Amino acid sequence: MTDRDPDCLFCKIVAGEIPSDRVYEDDDVIAFRDINPRAPTHVLVIPRRHVLDVQHLTDADGELLSRLFSAVRTLAAEAALESGYRVVTNVGPDAGQTVFHLHLHLLGGRSMSWPPG
Ligand code: AMP
Ligand code: ZN
Repeated sequence: MTDRDPDCLFCKIVAGEIPSDRVYEDDDVIAFRDINPRAPTHVLVIPRRHVLDVQHLTDADGELLSRLFSAVRTLAAEAALESGYRVVTNVGPDAGQTVFHLHLHLLGGRSMSWPPG
């Protein structure tokens, strides 16, 4: 697996070639506001490295997962989501995945129903 897919939208956002409203970054992870927000807070937390989706993670990616969720906690605290939030990652067509670079949706700022549609 290469670190970057030249045709991937989110790889271009990582590289700064496509603008985004970036709200977090470290050596392995960036986060930016979703262009079509579904909640008052809707941020996408992604690895800098191109990983297609959960199915393409391996047991060697434990540290990366830890860093992704660390970013989620930081962002949730910054957005004052103490009454709760949701973390979603869509995998494949049945789940409605549209961008094939791993991303965690961080959604908060309103109450949510369960199960999702
Ligand atoms: P998914 O459907 O789970 O693959 O999520 C992809 C998400 O990326 C959607 O919520 C889109 O609104 C969002 N998105 C697509 N293009 C951009 C962009 N250029 N900047 C920010 N978010 C985007
Ligand atoms: Zn990518």
